[in-house]
Amino acid sequence: MEAQTGTHVAILPSPGMGHLIPLVAFSKRLVATHSFSITFINLITDSSAAQSSVLSTLNDVGLSSLQSVDLPPADLSDLPISAKIETRISLTVRRSLSSLRTLLCDLTSKFPNTVMVADIFGTDAFDVADELSLPKYLFFPANATALCLMSQLPALDAQVSGEFRDLPELRLPGCSSPFPGKDLLAPLQDRKDAAYSWLLHQAKRYRQADGIFVNTFEGLESQALQFLKENRASFPEVFPVGPLTLELPENDSECLRWLDEQPPGSVLFVSFGSGGTLSCGQYQNLAHGLEKSGQRFLWVIRTPEVTEGPAAFFTVESKGDPKAYLPQGFLERTKGVGMVVPSWAPQTRVLAHAATGGFLTHCGWNSTLESFQNGIPLIAWPLYAEQKMNAILLVDEIKVAIRPKMQEDGIIKVEEIDRVVRGLMEGEEGKALRAKMRDLRDAASTAVAEGGSSYHSVVNATQIWRSTV
Ligand code: UDP
Repeated sequence: MEAQTGTHVAILPSPGMGHLIPLVAFSKRLVATHSFSITFINLITDSSAAQSSVLSTLNDVGLSSLQSVDLPPADLSDLPISAKIETRISLTVRRSLSSLRTLLCDLTSKFPNTVMVADIFGTDAFDVADELSLPKYLFFPANATALCLMSQLPALDAQVSGEFRDLPELRLPGCSSPFPGKDLLAPLQDRKDAAYSWLLHQAKRYRQADGIFVNTFEGLESQALQFLKENRASFPEVFPVGPLTLELPENDSECLRWLDEQPPGSVLFVSFGSGGTLSCGQYQNLAHGLEKSGQRFLWVIRTPEVTEGPAAFFTVESKGDPKAYLPQGFLERTKGVGMVVPSWAPQTRVLAHAATGGFLTHCGWNSTLESFQNGIPLIAWPLYAEQKMNAILLVDEIKVAIRPKMQEDGIIKVEEIDRVVRGLMEGEEGKALRAKMRDLRDAASTAVAEGGSSYHSVVNATQIWRSTV
């Protein structure tokens, strides 16, 4: 076998759509604009049609330097059913290290100039990179604000006694808004849970990376990026390379045809990401609130759960029929005004459609970036992960979202849903948010265009690769 002389990048995404999508987009950008070869290493625990469709975009015509390899599934059968996503993903990576080592040994004999890029929960793979003397980078699919928190987590863990959730507020260098402790990353809410220890472990290892790519852009989170830059003595160089988003293949979608028939800017898109679920009561309230508002809506429904959260994270598909949990007569009463789509919709195409005028979102960072790219203002309804921090950023700092008020019991009432939906779609507040979003749309497209700040960040990192591997 003849060794290849160009730079080769071995990319190791964590399972879950929110991790796969931006890393596939990053891989495609590296191949398209910097003519590297890429191996995309999949650690998928439970494949779904949606995940396969993301991976299928790696085979696009013209991207022959991209190959995708599956590692054998890691066995997590010993984990209790209550084990959180962060624990599951981190253990999947750790238990895949031996097969990763074998694969990387093969790859480096073919591609001696290999760089490894792992993501947010994949830092244990740095050990394999070190054994093989490969440069090791991290890809952070969330924003610079969350990366600021991760950079300070080891110190905060030592300084704060007791639970973060009991702190009325925490001021983080790099972030002008204070965060109530209960709105910090979900796995930080319970120190006794294994997910907390895993997150702390990952945060400590971030420092060992040769550099960190973050899916944001200059001008969006200037203060957080500035803090990270100034912190170079104790934290790796940070490269803002976003927004990195992906248009998924979707040839025949009923909801897009339905949107074609709606007036411009009239439809509220409602979706809680690839895995977010509501409780039964909240699901019913949302249905009643949408109906009461009289606004047009396209709602991606997923079977409600006893508790809210990331129930469907690995698979995206609903358990059972989510329509069965809607209020009686809802579908008939909202016919013509609303449409529900079980489990999954072609989100980037929906947000780019002329009929879409607002987005009620769980504030996942990919969804947020996709709304920036299309200039769509938001209703912020965070559920888990870093989404509550994102909601604060969107409402208080960037000012592109309205957030409905939650009652003490954690439920958002029908009247409040009606208020925010009408406020966004037909109120003055909605107009102001829409105008701000249009500016952001332009800034996002300038950042990634040739000569833009995110374009330059990728060039800078790749120049370092070329000179070091
Ligand atoms: N997505 C989609 N259709 C859906 C739900 C989600 O295409 O019905 C895509 C969405 O466009 C985004 C990703 O899945 O790119 C979700 O990532 P995000 O960070 O917003 O949230 P997560 O799913 O990780 O909570």
